[in-house]
Amino acid sequence: MWDSPLEYLKGVGPQRAALLAGELGLRTVGDLLQHYPFRYVDRSQFYTVAQAVEGPAEIQLRGTITRLTEAGSGPKKRVVAHFEDATGSLELVWFQGAKWIKSSLPLNEEVVVYGKVTAFQQKRNITHPEVEKWADFRQRPVRGLFPVYSTTEKLTSRGLHARGLAKLIAGAAVHLDAPNVPEWLPENWLRQFNWPVRHEAVRSMHFPADANSLSTARQRLAFEELFLLQMGLQVQKTQRQKANRGRVFDRVGPYFLHFYENELPFELTEAQKRVVREIRQDVRTGFQMNRLLQGDVGSGKTMVAFLSMLLAKDNGTQSCLMAPTEILAQQHYAGLLPYAETMDLQLELLTGSTKTAERNRILADLASGKVDFIVGTHALLEDRVAFSNLGLAIVDEQHRFGVAQRATLWKKSTVPPHMLVMTATPIPRTLAMSAYGDLDCSVIDELPPGRKPIETVHRTDSHRLKVWGFLKQQIALGRQIYLVYPLIEESETLDYKDLMDGYESIRRDFPAPQYAVSIVHGRMKPADKDYEMQRFVRGETQIMVATTVIEVGVNVPNASVMIIENAERFGLSQLHQLRGRVGRGADQSYCILMTGPKLSDDARVRVETMCRTNDGFEIADVDLSLRGPGDLLGTRQSGLLEFKLARISQDQSLVQTAKWCAENLLREDPTLGLPQHQALKKAFTAYARGKFVWSKVG
Ligand code: ADP
Ligand code: MG
Repeated sequence: MWDSPLEYLKGVGPQRAALLAGELGLRTVGDLLQHYPFRYVDRSQFYTVAQAVEGPAEIQLRGTITRLTEAGSGPKKRVVAHFEDATGSLELVWFQGAKWIKSSLPLNEEVVVYGKVTAFQQKRNITHPEVEKWADFRQRPVRGLFPVYSTTEKLTSRGLHARGLAKLIAGAAVHLDAPNVPEWLPENWLRQFNWPVRHEAVRSMHFPADANSLSTARQRLAFEELFLLQMGLQVQKTQRQKANRGRVFDRVGPYFLHFYENELPFELTEAQKRVVREIRQDVRTGFQMNRLLQGDVGSGKTMVAFLSMLLAKDNGTQSCLMAPTEILAQQHYAGLLPYAETMDLQLELLTGSTKTAERNRILADLASGKVDFIVGTHALLEDRVAFSNLGLAIVDEQHRFGVAQRATLWKKSTVPPHMLVMTATPIPRTLAMSAYGDLDCSVIDELPPGRKPIETVHRTDSHRLKVWGFLKQQIALGRQIYLVYPLIEESETLDYKDLMDGYESIRRDFPAPQYAVSIVHGRMKPADKDYEMQRFVRGETQIMVATTVIEVGVNVPNASVMIIENAERFGLSQLHQLRGRVGRGADQSYCILMTGPKLSDDARVRVETMCRTNDGFEIADVDLSLRGPGDLLGTRQSGLLEFKLARISQDQSLVQTAKWCAENLLREDPTLGLPQHQALKKAFTAYARGKFVWSKVG
């Protein structure tokens, strides 16, 4: 019955079946029974008319309707019913559907009335209440929590409003039994977690006996969804590892050791040490490493990358480090060059603006194996870039690259290189587990010592004079300032005008020769961009007016103020990234979020969150709850994260339990061959069909 088409269910028929499929994607009886309520209303309590006071909550009364009248005319025309119980009376009012109300409302018979009480000209009334005969109400399968189903306008017009759907589902519920809805979770888990069997859980979702049974039913069913996903990810990971034998880096050799012992400019943080250890363990297993490295802005991912590159060198291979922007690639190159030189290693930079002769030399050296490390932009992905022996590919700011672009790196070597993908956009732990569960994840959750937390404030345009005064103070102290405009789409002419207007007015308010202002945006030629950037880096300009091109990676330790214009237009992770441009030196740094006077609810939460905390993971949690996983991750696997019941941001411990259960189960029974796992195997196979194509890192 579970899989039979809805058409044959009593009360449906071909037309409604087509509508249910088109509007809600419900095709089978099973689909309908898994169309869970989106909320419940508590119908366990009755009020008397005397107790019924005006308020926002819906309440329920029991009594009789003694007469009906029509009042008003035109748009004010309404049906008014006189409702009473032993304690008093009030009015029920309908502005629409007069004809239907008049013909169907039961008079002088006991009814249950449900709605919100409002007061109008000293009289209490309930507008558009639900009315049900007491005789029918008593027949309801449960008395407490009533299910409310989501529906659509089209369905409503065919009688499948929330109540109609409820009736249909109540009818279909006779099929909720063990043969139709077989159990597939191992029995001992149900016992351990105290969960109802499957068909009872589905029933409780629709007709909960009480809040507690609803909660355990929901937990059990949400667990199923999360568990199947984790099983898929685990299996996928094992398959990928089998398919991709990796190079074995089993030597920690002279380059790594020399650098570590003699050249390291600072003591690594404990978190950096841990991640380096994790990487070292990965690259010696014989499997290809696929590691995602998350670390907040400024947590020191570059050094971890460089140490890994040395490890690759020690094992006779080349490495590449790919960055999303030219500026960032240049900074990596400039930062790593002194280290490479002291150890006589050849480090090159390849970007879109590398001159032809230089490019040809680099390409030749790369192919012959003379180049040890190459840093670059997308230019590294081009076909003509061929390595002699690529052992490690590192991608910085992974979210800026598409999956296909990253995958190109895999093909640059006959044995796929070890992959290390770095991101400064923290992903909440449970989301990472769900979205990247097939990858290995490392986290640098500690900043280098001595950093002062950035002070963040919110200001509106009316404070602008004061803000400018503050900037002048900071400049007088020798500090530098970023001023960022939202150019979400670099092509948006309006945004571009905002930016240029802003630039002009800054130049007026901070006039030469006392002040010098740089500007960088996406419409500039790379050479001009670079020139302006360099002037700021060298301290020749005090203010950098920019778009989000400076979002990633740029490092100017002397910059101590970040002003974000129209901050309400930025997402949380972008705000956090931008703020990370300051606070890199020893000085106290500031972030000023400029907004208009009025903020939407979401924008207010974003701004308040930024002012409250500097912790990227905390910010990511808020971001997840505001936007949901699909938006946070883009398209990657977000289809896998579409659940009926599970909510990654709220079901954190359930996600962990699911992961733990999947890992243990596969360790105990990798092929799911044991007799007690046959039902589970069947459920998993059905779920995973066509869903899991093992993905490449990131
Ligand atoms: P991100 O993780 O944002 O890429 P970087 O690698 O650019 O961070 O590091 C930020 C700054 O912190 C750099 O100037 C770097 O030299 C410095 N740094 C990194 N690790 C340490 C450490 N363990 N102790 C002190 N400074 C460090
Ligand atoms: Mg970085």
